[in-house]
Parts: sequence; C-alpha cells; structure tokens
Amino acid sequence: MPEQTLEVSNEKMSSILAPLPEELRRHLHYTLGHYSDESNPHYYYRALANAVRDRVTEHWQTTQQRFENTDQRCVHYFSLEFLLGRSLNNAVQNLELDNATREALHQYGVELEEIAEQEPDAGLGNGGLGRLAACFLDSCANLRLPVTGYGIRYEFGMFHQTIENGRQVEGPDHWLRDGNPWEIERHEDAKTIRFYGHTERYLDETGNMSIRWVGTNDLLAIPYDMPIPGFKNETVNTLRLWKAEATDVFDLEEFNSGNYPDAVVQKNNAEQISMVLYPNDASENGKELRLKQQYFLSSASLQDVLERWVAKHGHDFTDFGRKNCFQLNDTHPACSVPELMRLLLDVYHLDWDSAWKITTQCMAYTNHTLLPEALERWSVALFSRLLPRLLEIIYEINERFLAEVKQKFPGDVAVLRRMSLVEEGDQPHIRMAYLSIVGSFSVNGVAHLHTELLKSGLFSDFYKLWPEKFNNKTNGVTQRRWLSHCNPGLRDLLNETIGKGWESDLSQIEKLVPYAEDAEFRKKWRSVKLENKQRLAKYVKTHTGVEFNTEAIFDVQVKRIHEYKRQLLNVLHVVHLYDRILRGDTKDMVPRCVLIGGKAAPGYHVAKLIVKMINNVASVINADPKTQDLLRMVFFPNYRVSSMEIICPGTELSEQISTAGKEASGTGNMKFMMNGALTIGTLDGANIEIRDKAGAENFFLFGLDENGVQETKKDYDPNAIIAADEDIRRVMEMVEGGVFNHHEPGIFDLLTKGLRNPYDPWLTIADLRSYIDAQAEAGKVYLDQEKWTRMSILNSAHSGWFSSDRTIAQYANEIWDVKPLEDA
Ligand SMILES: *Cc1c(COP(=O)(O)O)cnc(C)c1O
Repeated sequence: MPEQTLEVSNEKMSSILAPLPEELRRHLHYTLGHYSDESNPHYYYRALANAVRDRVTEHWQTTQQRFENTDQRCVHYFSLEFLLGRSLNNAVQNLELDNATREALHQYGVELEEIAEQEPDAGLGNGGLGRLAACFLDSCANLRLPVTGYGIRYEFGMFHQTIENGRQVEGPDHWLRDGNPWEIERHEDAKTIRFYGHTERYLDETGNMSIRWVGTNDLLAIPYDMPIPGFKNETVNTLRLWKAEATDVFDLEEFNSGNYPDAVVQKNNAEQISMVLYPNDASENGKELRLKQQYFLSSASLQDVLERWVAKHGHDFTDFGRKNCFQLNDTHPACSVPELMRLLLDVYHLDWDSAWKITTQCMAYTNHTLLPEALERWSVALFSRLLPRLLEIIYEINERFLAEVKQKFPGDVAVLRRMSLVEEGDQPHIRMAYLSIVGSFSVNGVAHLHTELLKSGLFSDFYKLWPEKFNNKTNGVTQRRWLSHCNPGLRDLLNETIGKGWESDLSQIEKLVPYAEDAEFRKKWRSVKLENKQRLAKYVKTHTGVEFNTEAIFDVQVKRIHEYKRQLLNVLHVVHLYDRILRGDTKDMVPRCVLIGGKAAPGYHVAKLIVKMINNVASVINADPKTQDLLRMVFFPNYRVSSMEIICPGTELSEQISTAGKEASGTGNMKFMMNGALTIGTLDGANIEIRDKAGAENFFLFGLDENGVQETKKDYDPNAIIAADEDIRRVMEMVEGGVFNHHEPGIFDLLTKGLRNPYDPWLTIADLRSYIDAQAEAGKVYLDQEKWTRMSILNSAHSGWFSSDRTIAQYANEIWDVKPLEDA
C-alpha cells in the first residue's frame, strides 16, 4: 500500500509541471512577485532557472533512488575546487529544453543568450584542477556512473580581476548575493566538525582501551546539493557542497547578559571557514584557515558516507572498502586518510588493522603538479594544535610504514629519512603527498609524461616500493560544454556532416578525417570560424576597447599567470614582431591579433608584474600607427569559464608554451584543439599526446624537451644567447631600454634580470629563437588558408581522446571498478 502511494505521487510529480512557458510565467509571478511584462533580464533569468531546475529535480530524485538501492561500489570525488561556470545553458542543453526555453522567453520578447548572461559564474576554483573536477562530474553523469562530488560552498569564489594602470586589482566575487537557484540546502544532513582540544584514553563500555578527542571547538557543516545533469539520459548526479555554521547561532549566556556583539562572534568565526576560496594556483602554504578548510571538507564528507553506510548495514564494515572509493583531487583533501582512520577507530571502534585495511582499500590519490614548491606540507606544531588526534594517527601510520620500508630496504638509513611522512628540521612538517600515497591503493598522474616523471623523480622511492599503485589518467574536457554549447556553429556543422553521436561519444569525431580533403566542407569550416572570430572580436572590443581585425590570425594564451607557463615568452615574441614592423621587415608578415588572459595569485609578485608588462606592451603597440592592420595585442581581464566559452571557438593558434616538464597536463590545450585551433607548443604535459594524435605535421613544435631542459641547466648562459642572436638582442634592448615603461623607469628590471639569470628555472631565453621560428612557420602556413583549414579540421577530428568521458571511463575501469547504474 505505501509503495503504491509513492508511485502515484511520483507519477503526479511529472504531470504537476505545466509546459515551460507557463512555468516561466508562474515563477516570475509567484516565486519572484513580478507581475509586469517589462521585467529586467535578471528576473527572467531567475524565473527561467527555477523553471528549468524544477525539471531537473524530477530526474534527480529517481537518480538518487538508484544510488540508494544499488549494491555497486559508489565513488566520492573529494575536491577543494569545482570550477563549474554557469549552469542554466548546461541544464537546458542536457535536458533538451532549448526550443521550449526559447519559446517561453519569446512571450516576453527576450533571447536565451541575453538571459543566460545574467548568471554569475560559479567560480569555486582557481583554474585547471577545479575545471577538471567540473568536467569529471559532467562525464560521470553522462556515463551514468554512481559518483558524487564533495566540496566547499565558498561564499566568495575566485576574485574578480580588473586592470588599473596596467596592474591587476582584485575585487570580491559575491556570487551568492542574489541567491542560487541551483542549490538545495539540506539542514537535516548537517555534521559536527571538531577542532583544537586534546586527546585522552578511557575504557569503553566493553572494557577496551579507547581514545577520545575532547575539549574541542565545534561547528556545523551544512550541505548544499547542486544537480549535475547527464546528457539526454534522465540522470542527475549530485555535487554536495558544505557551508560552515556555528553550532549555536547565539551564545545564550552572552546574549542574556546583554552582550549581543560577543554572542554573534562565534557565528562569524565559524562561518569564516567556508567564506573564501584561496586564490593560489599552486603553493603559498601554511595558512591555518586553509588547513581548517581541508579538514572541514574531509570530515564532513566522510561522516556523510559513513552515516549512510551505518543506516543501511549497521556497524558491519566488512564490505565498506569494496563498496566505496574516495578519489582525492590532489593532496588538498589528504586529511581524509587519518580522518577515516579516526572515525573507524574512535567512533566505530574497529581495531587498527581492520581500519587500515579499509582505508587503503578505498582511498585513491591524483597528483597534479611536479613543482616541488607546490607540494603541501603542514607544520607539526599547527597540526598538533588544530587536529591533535589526527596527528597521533599520522605518527602511528608513519611508524608502521617506516617499519615496512626498513624491511624492504634493510640498512638504508637515508631512505627512511627521505620517505618519512614527517620532514625533520627545527620546524618539522607533515608531507601530505606522502601521506596520500601511503594511504591509497592508487596514485595517478594526469598525462603520460607527468606520470613517468612522478615515477622517476618526485615519488621514485615510493614507486620502487609499490610500483602497482602507480598509473596514468590523461586529463580530458567535456565536449558538451567545450564544443556543443560554446560553439553552436561547429556543433551544427558536425551534426549535419557526421551525425550527433559525438556529443556523448567523442571518438566518433574521427569520422571528420576525410572531410579535410573536401573543399566545400573546408569553406563551411572557415565560415563557422569566421563567425566565432566576429563574436570574439566584439567581446574583446566591449571589454578592452581594442579592435580585432577578423582577417588576422587570432593567437591566444589564456590560463593562470605563472612563470612556468611563460607568458613572458609570448610577450617577447610580440615585441619581436613589433621590432620587425618598426624596422620595416614586414614582407610575408601575417596580420596577428594576440590575446593573453589569466589571473595572478594576489601574493605572487612576479606574476602580477608579468600582467603589468603585457598591458604596457599592448598599449604601446596598439597606440602606434605603424602597427595598423599588422599587430594588435590585448590583456583580456577577468578570465573565467564563461569567457573561455567565447574565446576558444574564436581562436586559431593555441599557445601552450610551458617549460618542458613543468605543466602536468593542461586542459586549455584540449578545448582549443576540439574547436579547431592549431597548437604552438613544447613537448610538455598533454601537448605530447595532442601532437601524437593530431600528427606532428599538424602541430607547431618548438623548444627543449624535458631531457634538453635538464642538460641545458648544467651550463645555461642566456647572456651569450642574447648577444649572439640579433633579433633577441634587439628585443631585450627594447624592453630594457624602457620602450614600454617610459614613465615608470626600472619597473620591469626584476623580469629582465630573471631572463638573463643563468639559474632561470624557466629557460625562457633558451627557447626564444626556436619559438620565434615556429611562430614564423605558423604565420607562413596561415597564408595558405586551404592548408591551414585542413590542419584545423584534422585537429578537431583527432581530439576524441581528450574527452573527459574517455578519462572517466578509465578511472571507472582501472581505479574505481564501477559500472553505469541501470534503471531501478
Ligand atoms: C580550462 C581552464 C583552465 C586551465 O587552463 P590551462 O591552459 O590548462 O592552464 C583554467 N581556467 C579556466 C577558466 C579554464 O576554463
């Protein structure tokens, strides 16, 4: 009888919703209280988002039902960052509501594009790592995999970047100010999180010696669920984001004694934990609040999974490790290893060996960087004050681990010091990467080269001990956002040429290969690109005031500003082109529009100076009448997901120019490739695989490879290179001579000294000649538009490997051991 009622009410659910135009009107009138037909676009956005959200909700409930009923392993993707961007268009596309939505908006005479613009980006991430997590969730839903994302609901996401006098200025990103229609608060699932205090031993009910963590400062983690709709498959997965709140909103005693301000202090202190995303792309370690965030996410999410387990299986944890997997997105959630141990030992009273077996059965770790300065370490002093019980557990893990090392490498004392989870010194630190490796059954890098370098370098001792743990999962991006949605012109051309299958299975884009030889098709291809360039040119004009000529080659580098990504190398090439124009050497020069964009970490002085240099070089070049029609350069402000959606379809040349061995993978490179840009790049990260797939003849390669970098560093002499190369000498002379900083003498000295330093880790001058030549080659090919178009088509056609669907299928088969969920 009760089952039947449920079915009837489910049935009713879907028939409750009227056609979308009516639902839009209902939300505008009743949810938002706007009766006039002349609303501003913001209200249309909110009403439409609510109407679409309601439709998502139906599938969401049934998917969650499938999760609860399945006997399969479930995966929990732990990440401090999810760079989602906008949700409305994604939901409209995945639920096939495009026509219904346009019809609904037409009754008010407004267009979907304009309304979608109203949505603020969910910028809960810094860059590649956070965007990867968002693409992964999309692919998991597309593949109907039982995967839930866990993260933090930051009140303030990635800062808003503006440029004043060429310099970056950071502003707050209060993305939740007008409410968020894409989240549902679930107070009933709140968890208590503890900090500080101390540990003590006691005899539990059964007379066993136990340990408890007491005298703590507690706060609440409140979950907010966001729907992750699959592509036309009636699946909606969940991203659960935690917000921090005080356990008691008011300290009643303070309140009653009339001290109102002190009574709310506690609330504010607690909420600080989920207040702001740390805007560091890599490194800047050691901040107490950051460790609090990391533990907050780990503890709340693990408690969530354990409580659901206990509700279903009682205290029988025999199968827990086989039925659950926690994928750690970098070491940021590495506290999960000792925290799962603590919960199993202290709360559920398992013995050490059982708890450790479970933990190492279900933890998996993804490494994202080879830069040693970016490896997380937390001081033992901070750990012991903030998380005393976790530190005890880490010490015990370490003791048992080092005993194993001793057995494996008898008599080797150095190896014990090298591999210890505790880095000794006057200020001992916990090495979070090592903790993650020891606690996990899988350790993966994110591109072939990156994984090989982990095994031979950073983690070589661990690779010798446990070679079976190490594996590669080359990153990918979702073609639903990064092709279908952002490039409707190309989407339609693909659909009419090779059918629609590629949207859920990108390997099918290979069918495009023969069309590279079809002149009629190449013409259509160019006309799509031209429309995308026009859209991008308009966007650039609006946000920078600079005119881009759509006949020029659009040359783009967008990514976080970092020395290893070598935006400076790009700038030096542009200065070289400017120098050629000034000296009249413009024969065969292709008109070029160069766009650079990206945020610098607020504390990263050199990166901010690079932003200033890009802006200054751009101003001088754009103001000089001699560059007319030949060269334009802009720094595009506030680079984010929604701007990449306009930038990547309009790009023709994708700059992937990091020092070899430094970029773990890159994913921007993949978005550009899908959209038909050609890559100019080094043999670094996933560029190597892009070149393998596209064919060396369809890629502009330059620079030292990883080996060459190691060799060159032995006797690097940038000053000799500068002196011997006329072009480079002139470029340095212009930059050092103050051509770009007349009114601010000396401001770029730090950068030019770095370039001339024999210990420059980024070897910019070493690669400059080869880069200039590769750029000249790209320019030459561009003059032959038929050839360029062929290469462009072949890049898209061979981009199937770089779908995050392929990446996630590999995680599912080779790490997680999960299969798609069937209908209940
Ligand atoms: C894809 C993407 C990135 C990553 O770019 P890389 O070139 O791989 O560093 C960073 N930020 C945004 C907004 C992105 O969309």
